[in-house]
Amino acid sequence: MSESTSTSTSVAAAPELEKFPDWSPFQDLKIASHEPLYAAERAGRVACPKCQHKRLFFCFDCRIPLAERTLPNVELPLRLDIIKHKGEANSKSTAIHAAIIAPHQTAIYEHPAVPEDIDPTRTVLVFPSKDALTFEDLPDDFVEKGGRVMFIDSTWNQAHGVNSNPALAGIPRIKFTSETSRFWRHQKDKPATYLATIEAIHHFFRLLHERFTRTPYDGRYDNLLYFFSRQYHRIQQHYEGADSKKNWRLEAMNFFQLPEDKSKRTASEAEASENDEEETRRTRPRLEEDKTADDATTSATATA
Ligand SMILES: [Zn+2]
Repeated sequence: MSESTSTSTSVAAAPELEKFPDWSPFQDLKIASHEPLYAAERAGRVACPKCQHKRLFFCFDCRIPLAERTLPNVELPLRLDIIKHKGEANSKSTAIHAAIIAPHQTAIYEHPAVPEDIDPTRTVLVFPSKDALTFEDLPDDFVEKGGRVMFIDSTWNQAHGVNSNPALAGIPRIKFTSETSRFWRHQKDKPATYLATIEAIHHFFRLLHERFTRTPYDGRYDNLLYFFSRQYHRIQQHYEGADSKKNWRLEAMNFFQLPEDKSKRTASEAEASENDEEETRRTRPRLEEDKTADDATTSATATA
């Protein structure tokens, strides 16, 4: 009865996982070590091979990883189409994360462009309309018969506009509502269950796995949240306890090194912004100090 075959082979290929703190919402997820991201931050930005813009982890405009970076890869069981609203800046779009981490199955369309050759019997669009399906409504052969899922990447208000595009009529909608967003970005009119696009994608594939394998989810899609979890922690650690939305926003701008911020500047300011990288380097050690200070404050309060 004894199974001894696994003892010799099981250790070799285990990837190193990121260890999140106790309070982290990502604590139980199997997300690859963030060390390559820290290394990238230390090394600074490099030029995108396609557009030559300097980027940190990947190019959000060209939607390609930088060859210098070691990033995890996820293979999805379905084709994933993301319809991105034009108003959603590439630099802030978490949908781009899917194109970087799961490039073999992911395609991104700029609305009003939408995927063509859609078979509505094998495609679902994630949107919480009244007549939306649930996972239990999907046919048993949905995955094996080449199922396909579409997401809308936009603010909540814009999503309604995309959803009503006639080219998407006839595609069944599917919904899930239980997960509360961890997204840090302030959205004025978001519902409580609003998910960042990449969170929604991750949640979808987790539920899909449970529905179609009838086995507990094993973490195989968690690396979809590789960049998102890093962003989340970076901002949480810095602003834990702080209440200034303006500072949050500023921190986010620093993290992403947002280009549209530069576009609003004058030419001379843009030139000055070439020093951004230097500024960022100076900011990061301070963030670590703040984190330590925050931790100290938290534990002091907890024991008081
Ligand atoms: Zn590029």
